[in-house]
Amino acid sequence: MPPTPYRGRLAPSPTGLLHVGHACTFWTAHRRALRHHGQLIFRNEDLDPQRSQARYAEAMLEDLRWLGIRWQEGPDVGGPFGPYRQSQRRPFYLDAWRKLRDTGAIYPCGCSRKDLALSASAPNDGDDEPMYPGRCRDKVHEAENYEAPVGVNWRFHIPDGETIQFTDQHQGPQSYVAGQDFGDFVVWRRDDVPAYQLAVVVDDAGMQITEVVRGADLLKSTARQLLLLRALGLPTPAYFHCDLVRDEAGTRLAKRHDALSLRTLREQGHTPDQVLSMCVRP
Ligand SMILES: [Zn+2]
Repeated sequence: MPPTPYRGRLAPSPTGLLHVGHACTFWTAHRRALRHHGQLIFRNEDLDPQRSQARYAEAMLEDLRWLGIRWQEGPDVGGPFGPYRQSQRRPFYLDAWRKLRDTGAIYPCGCSRKDLALSASAPNDGDDEPMYPGRCRDKVHEAENYEAPVGVNWRFHIPDGETIQFTDQHQGPQSYVAGQDFGDFVVWRRDDVPAYQLAVVVDDAGMQITEVVRGADLLKSTARQLLLLRALGLPTPAYFHCDLVRDEAGTRLAKRHDALSLRTLREQGHTPDQVLSMCVRP
């Protein structure tokens, strides 16, 4: 059998301008695809209609091109695994939702929690999804009454106490315990938006991604996504989680209000090389 060709991806959300932290992660993804003589796929993660803006979607394509990153498939160039905008991939997410519903892997949760509105975007260290105590688990029997996911939050029933292990290509061996490190997480929001975790696994599998390169703030999300992939019977990609870029004081650049956008640096006359010199060298 011939070896599987490498397929990596760039998956930014158009909720703001890309900054140095993004540049470093995407540059690493670009380098790894080149090193493996593989393909790079650009996916616009514009799932959240409230937070996504067309002008940021334009800007991220332009800024990454300016940096010198090239991709072989994407919303601007097309390709065989499109569409490459999450907002246009709803039928794929609905298929996955139905499968999870039919196998009893998810349940409708009527609990009202304001903070759940955050779950469509990638969780970070500080704003990780709060642990859900599993109060609505017995509602799994009501799942068959739902023809469509709208109206309640849908949660994935995690295997309490199971240790989820994987070896990250950069960070090494990882281990998380379901029920201790994370609880039943949302896969579909009450406002009828598929959650980040579900969309990512559906798209990575659908686009035949072989390695996911992203920031280390998403390590714990990987444990959740491995459970989802298993429940959906989808193949598992390799993972490479990049170190997060911090300033001299140790603050994550993404967390700073003045996080330097590529746009600003470019307008100030910085070259792509100067921007990339701010990245952590492995
Ligand atoms: Zn509930």
